[in-house]
Amino acid sequence: MMNEETIFSKIIRKEIPADILFQDERVTAFRDINPQAPTHIVIIPNKIIPTVNDVTPEDEAVLGYLLIVAAQIAKQEGIAENGYRLIINCNRHGGQEVFHLHMHLLGGRGMGWPPG
Ligand code: AMP
Repeated sequence: MMNEETIFSKIIRKEIPADILFQDERVTAFRDINPQAPTHIVIIPNKIIPTVNDVTPEDEAVLGYLLIVAAQIAKQEGIAENGYRLIINCNRHGGQEVFHLHMHLLGGRGMGWPPG
């Protein structure tokens, strides 16, 4: 797959409005427009990686950094102690709709297992 821009590139460049909670040179985090839990945040590398299938060894640091940012935001949102779920959907069976790799941070309610 080509590394094509998605709506997330526009969010990174602030060309469309989004509730951005954190941004630096590597990562952007913003509230999901269609929240599936009281806290639902999307955390993305600024670099376009379409899916988990497209990750390369050079992405190792930024992918680890997504978890660091997720943990920081969970703390800020007050959901760290009760817990939360981190999800990366990949392709059709994973339910991926936006082809710019992203981590969902969901919390504020209990969640079932296994996911649907
Ligand atoms: P996925 O199904 O894993 O590809 O998730 C894509 C997520 O991006 C969905 O939860 C959408 O609600 C969210 N989303 C799509 N467009 C926007 C947007 N403009 N601002 C915030 N979240 C968005």
